Amino acid sequence: MRFDVIVIGGSYAGMAAALQLLRARRQVLVIDAGRRRNRFASHSHGFLTQDGADPAQIAAAARAQLARYETLSWIEGTAERAEGGRGAFRVTLAGKGEAEGRRLLFATGVADALPPVDGLEERWGRSVFQCPYCHGYELGRGRLGVIAAGPGALHQALFLPEWGDVTLMTNGALSLDEGERADLAGRGVRIEERAITRLEGGADVRLADGEILSFAGLFTTSRCRPATPVAEALGCALEETPFGWQIRTDAQKETSVRGAFACGDVARVPHSVSLAVGDGAWTGAQIHRSLVF
Ligand code: FAD
Ligand code: MG
Repeated sequence: MRFDVIVIGGSYAGMAAALQLLRARRQVLVIDAGRRRNRFASHSHGFLTQDGADPAQIAAAARAQLARYETLSWIEGTAERAEGGRGAFRVTLAGKGEAEGRRLLFATGVADALPPVDGLEERWGRSVFQCPYCHGYELGRGRLGVIAAGPGALHQALFLPEWGDVTLMTNGALSLDEGERADLAGRGVRIEERAITRLEGGADVRLADGEILSFAGLFTTSRCRPATPVAEALGCALEETPFGWQIRTDAQKETSVRGAFACGDVARVPHSVSLAVGDGAWTGAQIHRSLVF
């Protein structure tokens, strides 16, 4: 069968787009590898009606609602390659053959490159965070540590006093001039320039001289890139954002390859479940219109 639309990535953005298309009785294939970006977190915050819910439950409830539509096909798997163009795309799946579609949607999300601090990766989404709106409130106005991974740490450290008592750990990744030091002091932010050896316990930071700084939670900035290179290999242009790289789209969310669209974290900043869902809903409707007119 040639599908009307093949959606690569069946998480919040991809499912929100698919829902609009299914409600227009279009034949939709969703291919999903099941690796949501927030799979490390046990609670998701800031999405209306789901505040504090398990992010896996939000995705499972959405999938159950999509499954009621007869024109949905769903493959649990990985899209390895996409070829062709508007009207005739072909997607190759790892070990599961090929699929053809008139339109293609990349809702693949992004992958986070984290700073190489020992013990950080296993605490990502548990006691090390990026987004204060998502995780700041629960830290109860306690001590917050910022682990610098580049220049973005300055902005993060200046913003975070809204949520607690902040220490900026430069860890060799950030050098501060006098004006920046004064700005930080003005916001009550402490500066710690001793190198970090590793993270321990919940959110304890062991410094090179052995001293341990204890925090309610830690923040850092990741660099993002599309979770898979499939769109780039098809020829979709990327663009740089303050957070890394994303697929470039126009106002209708069409990429530089005609007939191929992108939505969610992989095609907009900033990033959240709400914004991914909103972007997906818009994009689903735009793809539908492109099939009609
Ligand atoms: P994703 O949810 O990342 O989903 C992309 C999907 O595409 C995945 O299922 C993936 O497996 C699939 N995929 C990718 N490539 C392929 C391929 N080649 N073939 C098949 N499938 C593929 N936001 C909030 O609003 N509240 C929070 O509390 C919150 N907490 C977060 C905590 C952490 C630790 C992180 C990292 C992020 C958090 N976020 C939170 C942000 C949120 O996770 C993202 O904004 C949201 O997941 C974006 O949705 P998406 O559908 O665009 O992409
Ligand atoms: Mg996405």
